[in-house]
Amino acid sequence: MAANPFKSMLKQLKQAVVYAETPADVYEQLKQPIRLVQFAIPVIMDSGKTKVFTAYRVQYNNTLGPFKGGIRFHPETNLDEVKALAAWMTFKSAVIGIPFGGGKGGVTVNPKRLSENELEQLSRGYVKSLVKLLGSHVDVPAPDVYTNAKIMAWMMDEYSKLVGKHTPASFTGKPLTAGGLAGRDIATAHGGLVATKLIVKKLKLNPKKCKIAVQGFGNVGYNVAKLLYNAGFNIINLSDSSGGITSLKNASMDPENVMLTKMEQGMIGGCYCVGTVCDCVNFIKVPNKKLLEMPVDILIPAALENVITGRNARRIKAKVIIEMANGPITPEADRILWAKKKYIVPDILANSAGVAGSYLEWWQNVHKQKLTQATVLKRLDKMITAAFNNVWRTAKKNKTDLRTAAYVVALKKITKAMQK
Ligand code: NAD
Repeated sequence: MAANPFKSMLKQLKQAVVYAETPADVYEQLKQPIRLVQFAIPVIMDSGKTKVFTAYRVQYNNTLGPFKGGIRFHPETNLDEVKALAAWMTFKSAVIGIPFGGGKGGVTVNPKRLSENELEQLSRGYVKSLVKLLGSHVDVPAPDVYTNAKIMAWMMDEYSKLVGKHTPASFTGKPLTAGGLAGRDIATAHGGLVATKLIVKKLKLNPKKCKIAVQGFGNVGYNVAKLLYNAGFNIINLSDSSGGITSLKNASMDPENVMLTKMEQGMIGGCYCVGTVCDCVNFIKVPNKKLLEMPVDILIPAALENVITGRNARRIKAKVIIEMANGPITPEADRILWAKKKYIVPDILANSAGVAGSYLEWWQNVHKQKLTQATVLKRLDKMITAAFNNVWRTAKKNKTDLRTAAYVVALKKITKAMQK
């Protein structure tokens, strides 16, 4: 049975409070969300029948600022997953040092089976049910798995209509034309690139000799693969939900070419590509599970939780794992990998440039400003480098893995704010 991501989060937290010397009252408050909502969204399907979808919003903690976190549309999304993701957002915002708390949302749905009309109703329905709990200084959602800029534009528009005021800062990850941030589409991946370069330097590895496997080829996986390829790393394996591919003779793949081939198959529901990386005939196909075990130097899970567990951790060959997905490694796998001296750059650090980018978008909307992509990337570089160095120092000082160190950094900031 798959590990419960919320229980995994609690185990990670428990391990870190010892090093962070977190007071018992603070620890107790961080063991559960401030508020969680489960609701039903009716959608009139194109067939004329009404279908009802189960949806969630978890507002985990807002000690450091408004609740902040994406909305996921996925057939397996459930409350415990959303609770875990909301908790990780809380710690992530603290690690990267932005004035936000943590929240997350989800709808249990396979959005690839919806038409554009059905998808729009679902997105607007989500906001209608939650309007009283949202707002630019209350709870600010963003895209996550299988949601994107178009969906955020519908949601922001719905929220603005309901409150009777144009409120671009109520959602982030919007298109540029709707107040979006230049560079938001690559913000998370850009942070992943910076974090990868930093750890490669610490471990004295040569980027040009580093072989990389990336699991997941969506917003994060595709962009991080592309940025790493452009920075001279070798992309040897790629995958998406349909399967994986591996290059011949360890020659680096160009992710942009892979994406072009994938896109040739067209779109469904106005948002989802029908194609897969497996459409690329120049490469050898590998099952998704095997992709994680390929002989590479750096492994980048960029899809979903629980992909590296007690079952396959011993077969992971990569020396470094950059967690671009949230929660891809279970605590049991963490222990095995730590014993095998693997370096894991944890999700709450590795993908934190996503929420940092969201913060910059929110800031420019609140202050009616427009930041350039060059400014955005420069600020993200600075933030992720400072956060990485802080976590690295904390790990060395306490002799812990980087995940525990990242929690320690976050816990200290949250504790200080709670006790002021
Ligand atoms: P996305 O919907 O754009 O892409 C998800 C990708 O994962 C798709 O290519 C899909 O085919 C693939 N996938 C799904 N199941 C898979 C499987 N079993 N094996 C291999 N691939 C599979 O989503 P995204 O925004 O890229 O998010 C990916 C991960 O990154 C999630 O864990 C998300 O929470 C995290 N994340 C995203 C952001 C962001 O800015 N989008 C920020 C921080 C963290």
